[in-house]
Formats: sequence, structure tokens, C-alpha cells
Amino acid sequence: MPAAMERTLSIIKPDAVAKSMTGPIIEKIEGAGLKPIAMRMLHLTQAQAEAFYAVHRERPFFSSLVKFMTSGPVVVSALEGEDAIRRYRDLMGATNPEEAAEGTLRRLFAANIEQYAVHGSDASETARQEISFVFRELEGVERS
Ligand code: ADP
Ligand code: MG
Repeated sequence: MPAAMERTLSIIKPDAVAKSMTGPIIEKIEGAGLKPIAMRMLHLTQAQAEAFYAVHRERPFFSSLVKFMTSGPVVVSALEGEDAIRRYRDLMGATNPEEAAEGTLRRLFAANIEQYAVHGSDASETARQEISFVFRELEGVERS
């Protein structure tokens, strides 16, 4: 049985965009065989960042996370591929960059657990919600 075709949301965070790491990160994504089907740069408002990270509302780091995510532009992309959600999380590496394996995006590009370069959806339901949060127009569109 071939693995299911999936989509996941990638965010290149303000720290990595500011350090001109957008190109190298996209190169790693494409090199791993994940296909961007939509991509744009945007600067999240406070309300958008709070909504995006609503699951972490009660966590002690929530306000600093929102402040960081609104500190500059991000590059959002929807990635498609077989088993894309797990494969992109493997490419990102562990949430704590000090624990992230050699060659992963967080090991290569994250400064610390708060400034950690990239986001990837963690399950098919969150992927669907996150993609529609930033790319409403993608509903039902196939990559050509
Ligand atoms: P992942 O992106 O690996 O799924 P989480 O969803 O747990 O990780 O975390 C989401 C965001 O919260 C990330 O931007 C991360 O930097 C931040 N974060 C997670 N844990 C901590 C922590 N202990 N201290 C500060 N920020 C954290
Ligand atoms: Mg998460």
C-alpha cells in the first residue's frame, strides 16, 4: 500500500526570514521531495497569531510566542507529498533545537526553543485547519 498523499502547513518564522534563511530552508524542503503547492509572505497581526496558536493559550510562553511570531514577516507554504506531515516534522527535527538531530532544519537554523525557525502541522486535522487558515483559496485545488 503506498503512503497516503497529504498536505501540511510550513511556516518559516520571523527569525529565519530575518536571517535570510528562507532560500536555504526551501531548498531543504524541496530536496526532501516535499512539493510546495502554495507559498506567500505575510506579517501576522497579534489577533492572527493568537488564533493560530490558540492551542497554546494556557502555556506560560504564549505571550512571548505571539510577540515573536508578529515581530516580522513569515513565509507560509502548503507542502504536498506522500506522508507529508510526518516527513516534514522529521525534516524539522525536535522542538528543542538542542535535541534536534544533525541535518534537521531546527539543528541548522534555530537559535533556541523560542526562536526556532520553522513550524509544521502535527496531524491531518490540524494540517487541514492551518492550511485553510492561511490559504482559503486552496480548497480543492490540485498541484499541476
Ligand atoms: P512543535 O512546533 O514542535 O509542534 P509546539 O507546538 O509544542 O512545538 O510549540 C509551538 C511553539 O511554542 C513553538 O514556536 C515553540 O518555539 C514554542 N515553545 C514550545 N515549547 C516552548 C518552551 N518550553 N518555551 C518557550 N517556547 C516554547
Ligand atoms: Mg505544534
